[in-house]
Amino acid sequence: MQERIFNFNPGPAALPLPVLQEVQKDLLNYKGEGISVLEMSHRSKTFDGIIKDAAQLMKDVMGIPDGYKVLFSQGGATLQFAAIPLNFISQGQSADYINTGRWAQKAIDEAKKLGKAVNVIATSEDANFNHIPTDFQVTPDAAYLHITTNNTIAGTQFHTYPDTGHIPLIADMSSDINCRKIDVSQFDLIYAGAQKNMGPAGVTIVVMREDLLEKSPADIPTMTSYKIIGGKDSLYNTPPTFNIYVVKLVLEWIQNMGGIEKLEAVNRQKAEELYKAIDNTDFYRGTVKEDSRSLMNVTFRLPSEDLEKQFLSEALEQGMLGLKGHRSVGGIRASIYNAVPLEAVDKLVEFMTDFETKNG
Ligand SMILES: *Cc1c(COP(=O)(O)O)cnc(C)c1O
Repeated sequence: MQERIFNFNPGPAALPLPVLQEVQKDLLNYKGEGISVLEMSHRSKTFDGIIKDAAQLMKDVMGIPDGYKVLFSQGGATLQFAAIPLNFISQGQSADYINTGRWAQKAIDEAKKLGKAVNVIATSEDANFNHIPTDFQVTPDAAYLHITTNNTIAGTQFHTYPDTGHIPLIADMSSDINCRKIDVSQFDLIYAGAQKNMGPAGVTIVVMREDLLEKSPADIPTMTSYKIIGGKDSLYNTPPTFNIYVVKLVLEWIQNMGGIEKLEAVNRQKAEELYKAIDNTDFYRGTVKEDSRSLMNVTFRLPSEDLEKQFLSEALEQGMLGLKGHRSVGGIRASIYNAVPLEAVDKLVEFMTDFETKNG
């Protein structure tokens, strides 16, 4: 077998090696049952144990207080862009959004497409989304405020969350869920496609205040109704069983690593090393404002597009994959999610120094 390489993909992204190894070990015969989780009924006792464990582990790992529910949905974060306005904006109401990048924009567009009234109370679009806006006022009777806590493409992240008072705060945490300790009680609903920090593509994790389930109108599509999905503990229809199983293994891995606090310390070290390498020279240029820098997606440019191309191809030759920036930003993006080890960042930083020496 060829050795595994360092994976800086933005998503689907790196998974912890011990998780992949456990999947492999149990793939054909799950714990002596003689079948794979892939082949198992979602109504079986074994799968019921898996999905309950996954939800409980999520509560333990994330520190979710009582009164919240953990749901497993499908349709990616993108289905949540529709589900949120459908469930929570009632007739005559409007909702607030902060536009911090492409995913936030898509959430806004989806709400509008459904005929809902949207107030974009702040945006950093004029500055190519290079920072998180701090100057905004929540509309007093808004149905909710929606934010994107980490902007995967631009490489920015909220480092403090808006205090919305009694207005519900809803967050797309697809690319930074469980990267650091947060106070879940600040939020009313959190959602995340699993494929950045939590598992394989195909399952979306929703953490929501249980009393919000009652808000779902009866006339919305079944798969967008929190009341229906939540009321059946994510088993209204066939859930993405294998993906939920892998998410459970990822949560166990987080626990084995010492929990979120431990991972956060490593994540901070990884990001610090990388930003230091960028700041130390004029050869590399960070694309976002310092106070908005993401712990998960580090974006930077080189002096020319030719050098960027060369950087990417030489990095790949040296076993570092997925460093190409999104076309809207250009340059380089290193996605350093939880499962990307410190050694990967060490190697990247060493490569950066070397590359500059040869080409600077
Ligand atoms: C990747 C990503 C999405 C899109 O998720 P899908 O699961 O593909 O729908 C949405 N929001 C953020 C912040 C993302 O990083």
